[in-house]
Amino acid sequence: MASLDHLKTQAERRLIFLGPAGCGKGTQSAVVKEAFKLNHLSTGDMLREAVAAGTDLGKKAKAIMDAGELVSDSIVLGLVEQKISSCPNGFILDGFPRTVAQAEGLSELTKKLNTPIDAVILFDIDEDLLLRRVCGRRVHAPSGRVYHIEFNPPKVEGKDDITGEPLIHRKDDNEETFKKRMAVYKSETAPLIDYYTKANLLHRIDASKPTADVSKAILSLLCAATH
Ligand code: ADP
Ligand code: AMP
Repeated sequence: MASLDHLKTQAERRLIFLGPAGCGKGTQSAVVKEAFKLNHLSTGDMLREAVAAGTDLGKKAKAIMDAGELVSDSIVLGLVEQKISSCPNGFILDGFPRTVAQAEGLSELTKKLNTPIDAVILFDIDEDLLLRRVCGRRVHAPSGRVYHIEFNPPKVEGKDDITGEPLIHRKDDNEETFKKRMAVYKSETAPLIDYYTKANLLHRIDASKPTADVSKAILSLLCAATH
């Protein structure tokens, strides 16, 4: 595993959060984004925005997302390419890459922009814990704030703590679609563990712990103390 000592003196952080649906990537992105003033680039959020806006891309993506399948590599690479060059302090890629082809596309892009990835953080977790997390997830769509009916309930049921606006239950957050997403993760995304191990970028954290413990582990890995 590569040392992250260079992060003690480097202000920017360019990160990939890797792991299955429900492992906590979005929740931890909010914490790490705040700590280092990073841009949070979630391809799932970008696609949901396109669906909500009813764009051509959104129309194409909707059925695929509802079924728990993957949107095409070229579409998601295009979305990331539009955003990644305007991240002054760095970025967190959440839910991207999800295939080896996407990882290769990202590698070309970061070479072109001279913005190498510092670390890939693998959220290690037992599959048994994920279904309950996914089915109980509630989201404030405009901000991306994530709640859980048991583990992180909002102050008022069904309402965002900050705006009071309604929370949504994502259409793909049900048992049947979760199973499909898990199968896709194993066949298409899990090979990235090997890919990024070989690239000497992979760091594992125990994502089964309570949220605050997971945050602490990630921030310490990323040398947050010096900031
Ligand atoms: P991902 O972005 O990886 O799909 P989320 O961050 O949206 O996962 O988390 C999935 C659900 O699990 C959310 O409802 C969130 O509140 C909850 N959650 C996240 N991390 C933890 C944790 N460490 N312990 C318990 N619940 C968690
Ligand atoms: P997420 O918000 O990361 O759980 O993603 C929700 C859904 O959006 C996924 O199940 C896919 O259908 C789609 N999606 C998000 N990111 C990608 C990606 N990198 N590649 C392909 N499809 C994606």
